[in-house]
Amino acid sequence: MIVRVPDIPSEGLSVTDAAALGSVYRDPTWRLEALRLRLERDGVDVFVTGEVRAAVTQACGRCLEPSPVEVTAAMDVRLVPRPATADSVELAPDDLDVDFYERGEIDISVLVETETTLALPMKPLCREGCLGLCPVCGGNRNLTHCTCQQRPPDPRLAALKDLAARLPR
Ligand SMILES: [Zn+2]
Ligand SMILES: [Zn+2]
Repeated sequence: MIVRVPDIPSEGLSVTDAAALGSVYRDPTWRLEALRLRLERDGVDVFVTGEVRAAVTQACGRCLEPSPVEVTAAMDVRLVPRPATADSVELAPDDLDVDFYERGEIDISVLVETETTLALPMKPLCREGCLGLCPVCGGNRNLTHCTCQQRPPDPRLAALKDLAARLPR
């Protein structure tokens, strides 16, 4: 959804219709559920504030089961026109909450995608207190009650686990 900056009225613009944004996410596992955004103009600067709620399916950080994750992102972004000069790199905003817009247009969909993706927890859990996988047999402890826990940990497995923890995911 493109909003032209000159079309933003002086009293501001509200965007609350999630359907109006069309397909926001390139990743089809994401789904936009609701949004409540205010666009306000101050000269050429545009402030976007509000809240976006989205859902995505992620592997649980403990048991690896695909789990729905709700993401609520608070939006508080200032958009400024991208400088046209060659030394624009020098003018890159150091503030994380400042972004550029180009050709007098703001793509709300891109903004929503960026902000909600950033708000995704690093290690989502399928539920509070997920029991995770058994380190011995690999069974999902939420589903099966194996008796492995009683056994002393195998030092070779501990070494493997240690290695696995250090590998990039
Ligand atoms: Zn889990
Ligand atoms: Zn087990």
